[in-house]
Amino acid sequence: MRYNLIRKMDISNGPGVRVSIFMQGCEFHCKNCFNPETWDFKEGKEFTEETIEKVLDLSSKDYIVGLSILGGEPMHPVNVEGTTKLAKAFKEKYPNKNIWAWTGFRFENIKDKEVFKYIDVLVDGQYEDELHDPTLKWRGSSNQRVIDVPKTLKDGKITTIE
Ligand code: SF4
Repeated sequence: MRYNLIRKMDISNGPGVRVSIFMQGCEFHCKNCFNPETWDFKEGKEFTEETIEKVLDLSSKDYIVGLSILGGEPMHPVNVEGTTKLAKAFKEKYPNKNIWAWTGFRFENIKDKEVFKYIDVLVDGQYEDELHDPTLKWRGSSNQRVIDVPKTLKDGKITTIE
């Protein structure tokens, strides 16, 4: 698998100051996607153990409150294994920091994946240009949901935050 970019300090994708990583490859091809350079699975850089170490190192600073995992599509079958390894390693090292992730899949269709043991908040659903609303926080279109993952899994019903 491959990734596109790591940001050392990101204040736009989730609350507070965060480290973020954009995975490479997405098959959804939403109209007016914010990040089409992440679509091609062959672009970007190889995702390795060193990539995970780099993210963990960058996240050690006290002012980093969490990790954001975006794309591309972190939950695509090509990428989900690496996403899971990263999320697991992050939570083991930083149990008090949070993980936010973004996906084009609906949570109901992927909720059984191991990665959701480690993710605190998932913004789900494809970007729909016709439903674009610039006043929304953390999401581009009103069909997308900002989901409290642990509570949703515990209660068996979707719980959104905000
Ligand atoms: S799912 Fe995300 S990365 Fe993929 S095309 Fe849609 S907006 Fe772009």
